[in-house]
Amino acid sequence: MDYLEGLNPEQKGAVLQTKGPVMIIAGAGSGKTRVITYRVAHLIKQGVDSFNILVLTFTNKAAREMRDRITQVVGPEAKNLWMGTFHSVFAKLLRVEAAKIGYPSNFTIYDTDDSKSVLRAILKEMNLDDKLYNANFVYNRISAAKNNLVGPAEYSSNEQIQADDFSQGRGHLGKVYETYAARCYRAGAMDFDDLLYKTNELLKDHPETLYKYQNKFKYLMVDEYQDTNFSQYLIVKKLAAINENICVVGDDAQSIYAFRGANIQNILNFEKDYPDLKIFKLEQNYRSTQNIVNVANSIIANNKEQLKKNVFSQKESGDKIKVMRAFSDNEEGKMVAEGIWADQTGRGLKWNDFAILYRTNAQSRSMEEALRKLNIPYKIYGGLSFYQRKEIKDLIAYFRLTFNPNDEEALKRVINYPRRGIGDTTVDRIILSADQNGITPFEVVINPSRYLDGRSSTAVGNFGTMIQSFQVITKTLSAYDAALHIAQHSGLLKDLYEDKSVEGLNRYENIQELLNGIKEFSEREDIEEKGLDVFMQDVALLTNDDNDKNKDADTVSLMTIHSSKGLEFKQVNVVGLEENLFPSQMSLNSRSDLEEERRLFYVAVTRAESKLTISYATSRFKFGTLISCEPSRFLDEIDAQYLELDFTAKPAPTANPFFDDDRKAWSRNTDSFSKPKPAAVKTTSILAKAHVPSEGFAPSDTSKLQVGMEVEHERFGYGKVQVLEGYKPDVKATIFFKEIGQKQLLLKFAKLRIV
Ligand code: ATP
Ligand code: MG
Repeated sequence: MDYLEGLNPEQKGAVLQTKGPVMIIAGAGSGKTRVITYRVAHLIKQGVDSFNILVLTFTNKAAREMRDRITQVVGPEAKNLWMGTFHSVFAKLLRVEAAKIGYPSNFTIYDTDDSKSVLRAILKEMNLDDKLYNANFVYNRISAAKNNLVGPAEYSSNEQIQADDFSQGRGHLGKVYETYAARCYRAGAMDFDDLLYKTNELLKDHPETLYKYQNKFKYLMVDEYQDTNFSQYLIVKKLAAINENICVVGDDAQSIYAFRGANIQNILNFEKDYPDLKIFKLEQNYRSTQNIVNVANSIIANNKEQLKKNVFSQKESGDKIKVMRAFSDNEEGKMVAEGIWADQTGRGLKWNDFAILYRTNAQSRSMEEALRKLNIPYKIYGGLSFYQRKEIKDLIAYFRLTFNPNDEEALKRVINYPRRGIGDTTVDRIILSADQNGITPFEVVINPSRYLDGRSSTAVGNFGTMIQSFQVITKTLSAYDAALHIAQHSGLLKDLYEDKSVEGLNRYENIQELLNGIKEFSEREDIEEKGLDVFMQDVALLTNDDNDKNKDADTVSLMTIHSSKGLEFKQVNVVGLEENLFPSQMSLNSRSDLEEERRLFYVAVTRAESKLTISYATSRFKFGTLISCEPSRFLDEIDAQYLELDFTAKPAPTANPFFDDDRKAWSRNTDSFSKPKPAAVKTTSILAKAHVPSEGFAPSDTSKLQVGMEVEHERFGYGKVQVLEGYKPDVKATIFFKEIGQKQLLLKFAKLRIV
C-alpha cells in the first residue's frame, strides 16, 4: 500500500477506517481534504466499485483536482466517481428522476437573476410595496425557507412564520412564495435551492428511489462539512442510512456560510446521529509556517463558540506577519503590488504563488489598478461569471427555450432580441393570456391568432416557428453545428457583428468563445452523450473558474475570502483590515455574526504557506466619497510577538486631488495611533459581555505606561503591565489580565488606558 505513504498515522487511520461513520474535525491545513482523496483511492484499490462512491466537495474545482489525484493512483477507473458540489451532483440525479416529481428531465436551472426577475414580476402583479417587498429580500426569505425544507404550503400555515411576517407588515410573503413556486413549476424550472429542496422531496416521497441511491452510494464523503445547511445535511443522512459508510470532514473554525443557512449544529448532531462514530483528530498543519499557524490560533482564540483544538506546525517559524498601513485604498493597492513584485523576483517565485484576498468584491478595483501599473498578470476568481455576461445569457436563452419551451424567463429575454417588433405590451398580453387559459406562454406564442389579436401576432407567430425549427435541427445536428445554426438564424450573431464599438467587438468574441467551448465539448472522447442539451444542462451552475481556459496561466489570484476556502498559496495578502469593512458593518449587531467574521479572518490567514501580509488603509472611497477608516479590531487581537509593522508609508498631502479632505482624514487617523480615540461606540454593544468598560472610557497616552502599572483594556478588562519591549512606535506590552490571563499587545493598536 505504498500509495498511502505521505500520510501521518492519524491520517492513515482515517483513510483505513472505511466502514461505518467517521468524522474528522480538524484545523486548517491539517490534511482533511487530503484524507478524503486518499480514502477514495484506497477504496477503489480495495476493490470497491467507483460507481458506488459519492464525494461532495465545496467547489467544482476542488472536485476536479481530487479526481486528477485519484486518477494518478487508480487510473481511468476514477472517471465513474460521482464527485462534485451538492448542487451539481443533485442536479445530475434530478435529471434522471425528474419525471417522478413532475418535472421534465431537461428542466431549466434558474440562476439568481432569473429567480429575481420572476419575483419582480409577481410583486408587481400583486401591487406590493417594493420597500417591504424588495426582490432581494424576498428571494433570500424564500431561499432560507427552502433550505430549512419549508415549502409554500407550510410557510403559509406555520403560525410562527406568519406571526413574524405580519408583525413586519409582510403578510403577503406566503402568497408570493406560493406563486413563485407555481411559476417555476410551470416554466419547468428549478432555482438553485430547489436542486436540494426537490432532492429531499424526491427521497422523501419515493422510498424506492431512495432505496436505489442508498444502494448505489455505498460510500459517502463530504468535505467542508461545517458549511452544509439543513437541506444538505438531510440528503446526506438519508442516503447514508442503510450502509452508514459516511465520512465527513470539516473545521468548525472555518464555518463561514451561516448567513446562507449553513448550520454548525450539523457537526454536533453528527455525533448524536451516529453513536458508533469514529472521530479522528488531525493536529499538525502541513501548510503553513509556525508564525502563520500561531497567528491563526491567536485570532480564533477570541471566539467563544469553538471546539478547542491544538493546531501546530513543524515547519520553520518563517517570516513574521507583516502589517502594512496605507493612507488610501489606492496606496494600499500600490504597496501590495510592489510587495508582490519584489518577492517574485527576490524570492524566485511565480505569479501564481501569490493571492490577494479581500472581504468584498469592490475592493478588487484598487488592487487591479496597481497590478496593471506594474504589469503583473492577475486573475479575478468568482467575479462575474463568463456565463453571466449579457450576450452569453442571450444565446443560452435561445438554447434553453429550444430544449424547454416553457422556460418563461428565457422566452421573455429573447422574444424581442434581436428586435423583431414585439413590444412589452405584447409580452404582457402573452403572459396574461397564458394565465387566463391555463396554458404556457409558449403555447400562446405558437397559436397567436387564437390567443392574441392585432398586428404583433404575425411577429409572435414567426418567433414561435423559429424556435420550433431549432427544436428540429437540434435532433440531428451536433452540439456545435446546432449552436452555430441558432446563433446565426436567431439574428444574434449578426446583431453583435454590426456593433463596431469596442464593447460590441468584445461581445462578438465572447460568443465565438462560447461556440469554441461547445465545439470542444462535442469533440470530447471521454463522454458519450454530447448533444447541445447535455452541454446546456448545468450551465447555470458553472462559475467563472470552471470556464477557465488559461487554468495553468501564471497569474496572481484575486478573490474574496469566501471563495478562497480550501485553497493554499505560498504568499497571501489579506487587505482592507478596517472597522466596518472587516469586520463588516453588518456583522456588528450580534456576537455570532462577529464570530463568523472572525472565522472568515481565520480562513484568510490560513491560506498562506510561507508569507502572510495584512494591510489596511486609513481612508477609502466608498460610494464615491472619501471616508476615514479605523484599523480593524482583529489587528488588536493578534498576538503581537508574531507581527512586524510596516508603517513606512507617509501621508503625501498633494498626492490626491481631494487632498483637502484627505489630509484631514489622514491627520485624524495618524493622531489616533499615538492617542487612540475612544472607540466605545464601536465595540461595547457587541462585546459588552466580555467586559463592560468604565463609563467615559477615554484611553490616555500609553507612552507613559510603565511596568507594574494597572491598566484597563476596552475588552479584556483590568490587568497589570508585566513587560514593555521594543521601540516607539512599535512598543509591545505584556499584560496580565484578570479575566483572560496573559496577552501581548502592540500599544499602537491597543485600546488601553492607565487606571
Ligand atoms: P483546509 O482546512 O484549509 O481545507 P485541509 O485540512 O483540507 O485544509 P489539505 O488541503 O488537505 O488540508 O492539506 C494542506 C496541505 O498540507 C496540502 O498541501 C497537503 O498536500 C499537505 N499535507 C497534508 N498532509 C500531509 C502529510 N501527511 N505530509 C505532507 N504533506 C501533507
Ligand atoms: Mg480542505
